[in-house]
Amino acid sequence: MKRTIYQEEHVAFAEAVAAYLKADVAPHVRDWEEVGLVPRETYRALARLGALGIQVPAEYGGGGETSFLYNCVLTEQVAYARATVGSLRVHTDVVMPYVLAYASDEQRRRWLPGMVTGDLMSAIAMTEPGAGSDLAGLATNATRTADGWLLNGAKTFITGGSQADLVIVVARTARTENRRGGLSLLVVEDGMPGFTRGRRLSKLGLLAQDTAELFFDDVRVPAANLLGEEGQAFGYLSGNLAQERLSIAVNAQAQAVAALDVTVDYVRQRNVFGQPLASFQNTKFVLAGLRAQVGAGQAMVDQAMQRHEAGELSPADAAAVKLFCSEMQGQVVDACLQLHGGYGYIREFDICRFYADARVSRIYGGTSEVMKSIIAKSMGL
Ligand SMILES: Cc1cc2nc3c(=O)[nH]c(=O)nc-3n(C[C@H](O)[C@H](O)[C@H](O)COP(=O)(O)OP(=O)(O)OC[C@H]3O[C@@H](n4cnc5c(N)ncnc54)[C@H](O)[C@@H]3O)c2cc1C
Repeated sequence: MKRTIYQEEHVAFAEAVAAYLKADVAPHVRDWEEVGLVPRETYRALARLGALGIQVPAEYGGGGETSFLYNCVLTEQVAYARATVGSLRVHTDVVMPYVLAYASDEQRRRWLPGMVTGDLMSAIAMTEPGAGSDLAGLATNATRTADGWLLNGAKTFITGGSQADLVIVVARTARTENRRGGLSLLVVEDGMPGFTRGRRLSKLGLLAQDTAELFFDDVRVPAANLLGEEGQAFGYLSGNLAQERLSIAVNAQAQAVAALDVTVDYVRQRNVFGQPLASFQNTKFVLAGLRAQVGAGQAMVDQAMQRHEAGELSPADAAAVKLFCSEMQGQVVDACLQLHGGYGYIREFDICRFYADARVSRIYGGTSEVMKSIIAKSMGL
């Protein structure tokens, strides 16, 4: 169905990004998957297209937009190009909103210009070996010193962690009766003594996106690196979750669209039993069914994007769209891989990557079970 969410300016941005991705990203994806990283220059090139500082005020070099739709365009174009750009989405959709919302003027001057050009790449470190879904159970702690904080702890699964220049670390700065209180956001910078990065984790998919362990051993974080107010982190993190989950849903949806496209191409050119795979009724029925599923996802995502633009996307609605699109993505990539036969299991075929990359959509940004808990609560259950 024709989409009506985008205006002329979004389409122009999509075209510019698509041209760059096709020429300078897609041809290198396999090499980047081998090394497990996207080169810094790629982030800088995307920055020159305006992709890194979409909502950043012009005085810091950004685009000064209020709309999140450009971020959605970017996510979609990466998927449609069958490309992958490492930790881009964490930088633009997850970290940037916290800096924009909570940084002081001094912090904005210090960090935003570099974040816009790609000279300062960022990560967010919430998850720990002992605390994932249950964020309030985290053990990383920071104690007061005369001029700031002494940070100790370990984080895991941190996207972009091995390359990040700035890491927003969620740490416990006070014990309160309510476990959700007493958490603060501390910005740890590359090179601070006591901050070390562990191994890059070897993953099932998202091979060009580094996922790292981070360690903090008596790291002296200056008071000037507290983001927002002390003890308010849980509220800040909850406040941005709807947008983060929408971002994951947009990605899941776009990946499903791309996987279906890849498969329609494949069944047309593959012959079995002397005829195109596309000519079998089973192939047509499977693909037609997937087309309907993907269309349902698109309608839901587009409506969620619209509600988000109006400032009306509720946490439960964001959870529902993430749940639906990530589960749908899983079903689509599985059926598409099946239609590729053995080739679907071979890494040089795009569908193999779509399949492997899809699995985490149901896990990160809150698992499907956590999404269901949120939705059920909104139903009074
Ligand atoms: C590739 C990748 C990138 C990531 N990037 C980041 C990042 O940049 N920053 C960051 O901080 N984190 C990141 N994460 C971590 C991610 O957000 C967590 O993995 C996720 O929140 C789940 O936490 P967990 O792994 O500890 O699983 P657990 O919390 O241990 O969950 C295990 C199982 O228990 C279920 N479960 C948990 N609680 C409940 C409940 N109340 N009711 C029913 N079932 C429940 C879960 O659904 C799951 O099935 C990343 C993870 C991956 C895999």
